[in-house]
Amino acid sequence: MTQPTPVAPDRSGDVSLVFDHVTKKYGRVLAVDDISFSIPKGSLVTLLGPSGCGKTTTLRMIAGLESVTAGRILLNGEDVTRQSAIERNVSMVFQSYALFPHMTVLENVAYGLTVGGLAAREADRRAIAGLDLVGLADYGPRLPSELSGGQQQRVAVARALVLEPQVLLLDEPLSNLDTKLRRRVRDEIRGIQLKLNLTAVYVTHDQEEAMAVSDRIIVMNKQRIVQHAPPRELFETPADEFVADFICNANLVTGEARRSEAGRSECVIGGVLATIPDRQARLGDVRVAVRPDAIRLFGDAEPHPLKGEVVYASFLGTEMQYTLHTPLGELFVRSDEVAEPHPLGSRVGIGFAERGLAIVGAAGSAR
Ligand code: ATP
Repeated sequence: MTQPTPVAPDRSGDVSLVFDHVTKKYGRVLAVDDISFSIPKGSLVTLLGPSGCGKTTTLRMIAGLESVTAGRILLNGEDVTRQSAIERNVSMVFQSYALFPHMTVLENVAYGLTVGGLAAREADRRAIAGLDLVGLADYGPRLPSELSGGQQQRVAVARALVLEPQVLLLDEPLSNLDTKLRRRVRDEIRGIQLKLNLTAVYVTHDQEEAMAVSDRIIVMNKQRIVQHAPPRELFETPADEFVADFICNANLVTGEARRSEAGRSECVIGGVLATIPDRQARLGDVRVAVRPDAIRLFGDAEPHPLKGEVVYASFLGTEMQYTLHTPLGELFVRSDEVAEPHPLGSRVGIGFAERGLAIVGAAGSAR
């Protein structure tokens, strides 16, 4: 009896936003170079990368605030590439809040609804519900200048949310807040996104912020996407040296991969044998990313194939940070063994933890 041919489930309804080979040029300046990705409904995806890599341009193209030079953008299956910002059902939270200073908080949140044609009473009702959602139910009559920075940003989030967008866009929403507030507002934004099952695209250049809020992260460098993966995958198997450095602050060293089996390679690094994940099973000289927390230090008394000298040592409360001079080059180390730190100038033996190392390319392929 012949078996029926299996049919792949149609999951196109689960996808909210698609970039299909999108390029953006400003005259001769290439701002975004042939990027493709898709974002499932109800997920928060972060565009992460250094200054000038193309994150903001990408976000503004989703919003319809920048035209597309080549390629297509689909929103819930509809081609919106040539649609204006007003025609698209997206709303954006800006880093500068962009609240109207002469309007009360309630008027600010209701503004987009009344401009969209909603009766004043219904717009107020929804604005009050929006303020309630961000914990500012009692702040409606105040002016923005009578709020703290964190509260103003929450108003901006409420104003975007009440429009019930298909996609919520957030452009560095925490950059005007101090460190403590950043964490709180960050957690609040993520909490609301999860509660309402919103699709959101978030831009930041801060890797910790990206790790904390995202279902998936799109890492960009030099106008292109270098890796698109969940935070844990980026952290544990960075695609290349750039991602390893940018996401994990990893040390990049050369080792020799001698054997590879079932996605793991036996690799000798400075005379020390380590088993490292590598789906590509590369052999010979390879570049290895070694996370600072994956380096183990030992006293000088014991024999050890790899040794180094402590040239910087800093106590940070819950961890020690060291810089070592070693035959592999300079290594940056983070250690939670704070009770008996290795003193400046001392010699230490060096080993590697089971996790925290990744092969990121063949030697000589550094970018
Ligand atoms: P940042 O984190 O500094 O905001 P970014 O990753 O968001 O950087 P974009 O603002 O998207 O980067 O800029 C990408 C590239 O396009 C940069 O080289 C930038 O100089 C260039 N660019 C952006 N806007 C314009 C413009 N209006 N005219 C010309 N070039 C532009």
